[in-house]
Order: sequence, then structure tokens, then C-alpha cells
Amino acid sequence: SQRYSYQPEFLQAVQEVLTTLQPALDKNPAYEKNKILERIVEPERTFSFRVEWIDDKGQIQVNRGYRVQFNSAIGPYKGGLRFHPTVNEGVLKFLGFEQIFKNSLTGTPIGGAKGGSDFDPKGKSDNEVMRFCQAFMLQLHRYIGATIDVPAGDIGVGGREIGYLYGMYKRLTTKYEGILTGKPLNFGGSLARTEATGYGTVYFAQEMLKARGDSLEGKKCAVSGAGNVAIYCCEKLYQVGATPVTVSDSRGAIYDPNGIKVDVLKQVKEVERASLTRYAELVPTAKYVAVADYPAGLHYVWTVPCDAAFPCATQNEVNVEDAKTLLKNGCKCVAEGANMPSSIDAINAFLASGIAYGPAKAANAGGVATSQLEMEQNAGMTAWTFEEVDGKLFNIMKNIFLNADETAKEFGVPGNLVLGANIAGFRKVADAMIAQGVI
Ligand code: NDP
Repeated sequence: SQRYSYQPEFLQAVQEVLTTLQPALDKNPAYEKNKILERIVEPERTFSFRVEWIDDKGQIQVNRGYRVQFNSAIGPYKGGLRFHPTVNEGVLKFLGFEQIFKNSLTGTPIGGAKGGSDFDPKGKSDNEVMRFCQAFMLQLHRYIGATIDVPAGDIGVGGREIGYLYGMYKRLTTKYEGILTGKPLNFGGSLARTEATGYGTVYFAQEMLKARGDSLEGKKCAVSGAGNVAIYCCEKLYQVGATPVTVSDSRGAIYDPNGIKVDVLKQVKEVERASLTRYAELVPTAKYVAVADYPAGLHYVWTVPCDAAFPCATQNEVNVEDAKTLLKNGCKCVAEGANMPSSIDAINAFLASGIAYGPAKAANAGGVATSQLEMEQNAGMTAWTFEEVDGKLFNIMKNIFLNADETAKEFGVPGNLVLGANIAGFRKVADAMIAQGVI
């Protein structure tokens, strides 16, 4: 950990996994003999490259791009691209590391990867975003391929960016193949991919509660974020009879006891690409709280009393004080739509309380699972209906829950889905690495 002390998010993600794996290592000495831990924490390869592009004023801009190809033991590299000013190699290594176990848990044949850039899409024109995406793909196209590495979206990368990236790949290679997922529907995108992560997180929460003889029906839910995952989490919560009462973005949060209006949220975030202050203008009953006015040391959305919480914004947005506040206010279920939203202390507080806690690797795997379904459709030159894809997504989420739950029971810690998900995801990858040998 000394060696990577400058990559704190990566160390946090590794610590969270390694501290749960000991029982699996004790049970199967082959993992230690084959030095699986030492090997699995090191990416197979990482590319970093200069991205140069010209802004609307005719000025040259320079950004840094990355692709971390972490592990291909069980399938081609798969994982999103993040465009955000906080992106660096350590952040992408944390995300790529998590992705190995998540992809394994989906039960589909995909390896783990992540990529992106420190480019900030905020305040950029459509043309600037297009030129940046083209310049990014000019570098990235060398390293990806339909059976090599298939990137998708993440923070700052949605349908618009995927479209521009895809167009550039096609111009460079003349190949019309599924090298990206999350594509728009008229050129190879899958129905239900846009909704998949948010919907999947709610399906996972439902399964956790069902196993405890409870359900989401009638529940008041706190949701953070206001992007792709948060929007479709809110939409599905209404469909299962629950009410999302909060959302947030990087500048502030919205609280409305009557429930978040999903159509207005889509208009503000997907169409206008505006801040939540705009939502508050359009919905006068909603209360807007700016980040500067959050209670000291807390994130506002977690101070709103709720029955279930859905962190869907970004990493480390639930600290131990947030976790204690949620528990004190009676929260009985936490399902993570974002990657690593909870600090290690917050996770331990949730586990100690015995509430239903669904860690990101398991609870938000619906996005990448549906991306794999998009790859299947592209490979078969076909397109499935929304109901077909959504039905498969539901079954995948149910199976991830059952797999994590049964693994937790196998190791004598029933209900601990952190240990269950980590070990279940790890074993499949580790066994494949052993079977494939070393040179
Ligand atoms: P989007 O870019 O669509 O939305 C991100 C949202 O989170 C925005 O509302 C953004 O605010 C907010 N946000 C981002 N960074 C911060 C920050 N530092 N502080 C506060 N708020 C912040 O991304 P997604 O919805 O796709 O991703 C959200 C999370 O879900 C990420 O952790 C991602 O890795 C994870 N995830 C996404 C998947 C997908 O399919 N898209 C799949 C699995 C996980 P603002 O609007 O102001 O930028």
C-alpha cells in the first residue's frame, strides 16, 4: 500500500475486497500458491495518452486520456469511460478493480476495465464535446475491439458522447461492430440499457427486502445524484410503489416530500443539461439546499428521514456520520447505484446494524450486465424488445442477490452481502486465472 499511497481510492477499493477474502483463501490453498492476490491487484496493462483538440475559440486544449485493462481471465475487457476533472489513474484503477468482481457476478463472460479523461464536459458546447470525443477515440481505437475491450459510459459519458466516439471509431477503421455499448438505439444500442443501472439497483433492493419478508412498497426513499443512474432509480421506485423524495448534483440537493418529478428531472438533466436550481424553479414545492448549506460533515440527502437509501452520484458520498444519521432515522435498506459511494467505516456501520445493505459491485451490476446483452445483440445482428431485455436484467439481478446471499451463508456470515459478493466474484476469476496458467 506504500507503493500506491498516491492512489487513495484504489487502495480503499482493494482494502474493501481483500479484508473479506481470507475465508476463501483458507478454504482453497491454490489461491495463495498461485499468488492470485498479488496478481489480481495489478492491471494487465494501462494505456495513458495525450488528447489534443481545438475549442470553439480556436485554442488548442490538452487533456489526458486513459484505459486500464485490468483483468481478462473470464472475457474481453469491459467497463465504462468517465469524463470528469477528478479523473486520474488511481480513480480509474479503483473503478477497474471493482469492475472485475462486478462483471464476474453478472454471470456473463466479461473481464474488468475502466477508462476516461480529466476532460470536463460542463460548460462545453456540443461541438467541443464532439471534437474532444473524436480526439479521444483517435488514440483509444488502437486498444479496443469487439472481442478485445468494449468500453461503455459512466459519469460525463452518455448517449451523446458514445455516439461521437462510435462515429470516430467507424471513420478510423471502417468497421461497423459493437466496440462500445450504451449506443443510441438507431445504430446498435439496446433497449433498456439507459434504464438498466437504476432499474437494476431497485430490483436488487427488492430482492434483499423480499428475503427479509419486506418490500419497497410504500417506502420513502432518499436518492443521491441526478444523472443516468439516479433518474432511472427514481423512475423504477415509483413503478414498485415507493416514493423517491430527494436527488442531488454537484452543487446541491432537492427535497420534496411529495416525491421527485421524474419528467421534470429528465427535462433538466437530459435535455437542458442544467443544475438542480432549474428543477427548483420548475417545481416550486421542492426545497433546494446548496452544498454550502449542508449540515457540517454531512451530505444533506442522507439527513432526510427515509426507509431506504440509494446513493447514485459518486464515490465516498456516504461517510460514517451520514451512515449513522441514516440508521438513527430508521433507514432499513441501502442499495448502491454509484461505485464505492460508502466509506469503509460507513460500510461497517451498515453491516453492524444488520440492515439490508447491497454493495455497489452487486447492486449496480445491472448496467454492465445489460451492456453485455447489447454485445450479444450486436454479435447476432439483432435487436430484442424492451420487455425481453428488462426481463433478463431482472433475472440477472435476482441471481446476483442469490449468489451473494448463498456465499455469505456458506462462509457463516448470513446477510453480509459485502463478503458474499466479493468472494463469489473473486472465485470465478481466480479459478480462471489458475486454469490459464502463468508463463
Ligand atoms: P452521470 O454523469 O449521468 O451523473 C452523475 C451525477 O452525480 C450527476 O448528477 C453529478 O452532478 C453527480 N456528481 C458527480 N460527481 C459528483 C461529486 N463529486 N459530488 C456530487 N455530485 C456529483 O453519471 P452516472 O449516473 O452514469 O454515474 C453515477 C454513478 O454510478 C457513478 O459512481 C458511476 O460510476 C456509477 N455507475 C454508473 C453506471 C452506468 O451505467 N451509467 C453503471 C454502474 C455504476 P452534476 O449533474 O452536477 O454533474
